[in-house]
Amino acid sequence: MPRMDANLSADTRLTGEQRRVLLSAESGLRDLPWRQTRDPWAVLVAEIMLQQTQVARAEHRWVAFLKRFPTTAACAEAPLSELLEEWAGLGYPRRARNLQLTAIQVESNGGVIPNRLEDLLTLPGVGPYTARAVLAFAFEQDAAIVDTNLGRILARRAGRPLGRAEAQAQADAWLPSGQSWAWNQALLDIGALRCRPQAPVCTGCPVRRTCAWARASWPAPDPAAGSAAVSTRQAKFEGSARQARGRLLRAVQQGTVAPLGLSAAAGLEGQADAQARARAVADSLVNDGLLELDGAGNWVIAGTTPKP
Ligand code: SF4
Repeated sequence: MPRMDANLSADTRLTGEQRRVLLSAESGLRDLPWRQTRDPWAVLVAEIMLQQTQVARAEHRWVAFLKRFPTTAACAEAPLSELLEEWAGLGYPRRARNLQLTAIQVESNGGVIPNRLEDLLTLPGVGPYTARAVLAFAFEQDAAIVDTNLGRILARRAGRPLGRAEAQAQADAWLPSGQSWAWNQALLDIGALRCRPQAPVCTGCPVRRTCAWARASWPAPDPAAGSAAVSTRQAKFEGSARQARGRLLRAVQQGTVAPLGLSAAAGLEGQADAQARARAVADSLVNDGLLELDGAGNWVIAGTTPKP
């Protein structure tokens, strides 16, 4: 269960705004499975999964992934094909490969996920947000996260778009010491449920009194637009290289793909420059460590070609 500080109102180190945010967590955070654990591996898997997958889709997939790969050792030892099978449908499969590379790196360093920012940042696929999320949610260290939700709140609260360093500095300065877990979770919920990209629900928001944008009656443009960490609308999936990558990867998961079948496997057959485009898609999957060429020149899942 989420941990809360029962003595918030007596804590004189908190500002009124900080107290209101923390009280909003006390009165009920979303009940998400990764909020029930402090296991660093489980937290890291959740954060990688949530990078580009919506919460509702990630919930049961996170549980299933950890059932199959409960530890870094289990993940490090598994064939990549098994990880990709468990990742199917989540998109951006490079994340599964990065998780395995991280597990291998952790295992080669004693099997312990690091608890220092600079060490976490050396792990494949772990950037400033994910590293701080692991510090806050697994180790309960003072670390302020800035993802798209927090980025939106910070910009609106400031009343102007923020650069990356400025957003992180404001988040760091805002974080109440010793409350990192509840603080970051509370802000994630405020960002997801209240401070939404469109039509924010400002009435009752714990940040309402100090939010410059709301206090100015929400003038256009929205300060969150173009502010650091705030995601923009994703490019169209239909007809994209991402779609072709997904198709080719799925085809290879079902069996080797020969050069002659490459454009059909990538779903590009009949299109202009189909073979060249399919080849570029295959090369990108090879570069990401997801595919490799076997001795006969066919594409297979990386790591499945017998070593000489
Ligand atoms: S008052 Fe409105 S705009 Fe400001 S942080 Fe809260 S929900 Fe977002």
